[in-house]
Amino acid sequence: MKFVSTRGGMAPANFMDILLDGLAPDGGLVVPETTPRLNTDELAALRDLSYAELAARIIGLFATDIPREDLERITETAYGTDRFPENTVPVTYLHDEFFLVGLSAGPTMAFKDLAMQFLGQAIPYVLEKTGRTLNIVGATSGDTGSSAEHAFKGAPGVSVYMLSPKGRMSAVQRAQMYSITDSNIHNLVVDGVFDDCQDIVKAVNNDADFKRTHHIGAVNSINFGRIAAQVVYYFWAWLRYTDIVDEDYTTENAGHREIAVCVPSGNFGNIYAGHLARRMGVPIARLMLATNENNVLDEFFTTGHYTPRSRENTYATSSPSMDISKASNLERFVYDLVGAKEFPEAWAQLDAQGTVDLESYVARLGAEFGFASAKSVHQDRLDSIRATFEETGVVIDPHTADGVTVAKRLSDATLPVLIMETAKPDKFRETVVEALGQDAPDTSDVVKDMLKREQFTVDMPNSADAIKAYIEEEDR
Ligand SMILES: *Cc1c(COP(=O)(O)O)cnc(C)c1O
Repeated sequence: MKFVSTRGGMAPANFMDILLDGLAPDGGLVVPETTPRLNTDELAALRDLSYAELAARIIGLFATDIPREDLERITETAYGTDRFPENTVPVTYLHDEFFLVGLSAGPTMAFKDLAMQFLGQAIPYVLEKTGRTLNIVGATSGDTGSSAEHAFKGAPGVSVYMLSPKGRMSAVQRAQMYSITDSNIHNLVVDGVFDDCQDIVKAVNNDADFKRTHHIGAVNSINFGRIAAQVVYYFWAWLRYTDIVDEDYTTENAGHREIAVCVPSGNFGNIYAGHLARRMGVPIARLMLATNENNVLDEFFTTGHYTPRSRENTYATSSPSMDISKASNLERFVYDLVGAKEFPEAWAQLDAQGTVDLESYVARLGAEFGFASAKSVHQDRLDSIRATFEETGVVIDPHTADGVTVAKRLSDATLPVLIMETAKPDKFRETVVEALGQDAPDTSDVVKDMLKREQFTVDMPNSADAIKAYIEEEDR
């Protein structure tokens, strides 16, 4: 399997090569040259695999340059009981046609652990093979940074410089990140919003000399290694769903078990993996995209116009990990939507006019690609947390509540809807308490202990030069 850039300016590269980079050298995003596809029999044959085995099988379709035994060792460590003490990804029935896919059973209580724990094993593996070191520079609105730091703390050959927006994260997110004591972890707190942090990461990566000299890499959601790891749980969720609904599941009907998935979205990484899984053969009839008040993606999927917004127009909401007004992974999807030939001209509109007009594709977004979308607001989240608790006793977090709100709004009850649980309620307790009052569960002891620990941060201005100077100093 080879990888190319959406913008056409990268020689085909292997998985191990692209694993250490964020953007392609031409500023585009890395995509697989072809999409592997599993037929019905091959899908059915996955049914008895453990999560780690399934991960090695699916990621192995992309990482063809990593020997299978090595990949199995990597996924066994990444998804074993050390990091996921109970079930790696539990799938449970909620009510009516709704199911919950538990993506936040990992060390930082959010779905990003599923991608990051893979990178935390795979990247040191590649570095060791090639005798290299890596400085990971990333931006986080809360969950990415935390899961990256927990995946890479103490990792040989790796340092992490994580930019987070000042005052925009929950107390638990801050404690999870800032209380890490390993010397290879640097928490840089930027005076700006998430998009500013992301712009700095882009600027650092666009400085080719600096990037080369300091071995800069990324683990943001634009890293294809993360996407590959996220594809796995769409296969898993569908397989476990079939276990639940049909004890008599057979090879013949394996291809007729269509589902909808509903994905709380921000940077479009999670649902892009769903789109890939669909193209790879998972019978996902509908991809429901949920946004909060920061609804650039909902706007795109309903009107065909993608217009990223500025810092002033990004709201701070009660589902803060989705407070994103530039969806960096959307470029990959638009590449699939319009095709490699049309892509450069279509995407060039963004630089020229600050907006991309793909209105002529709107009908195909639903009909051919299966997308539907809607947004939720604060009151919707409170209502969904309350209603889910009353109907099932399950407590969901506000991001998952965005998903529940949108799933209910878009479902026509003809398809089961698998809602992606993207974080644990403990992580965003304020909103859960606002919704449930006295019924809100107590903060867990693990979290209570964590909140008490000392925190270590470095305050930074909203400036790429300042960040570069800091890294330069540390990387001597
Ligand atoms: C990152 C995140 C999202 C958004 O996922 P994307 O892949 O950026 O679309 C949603 N919910 C939570 C809890 C997150 O951490």
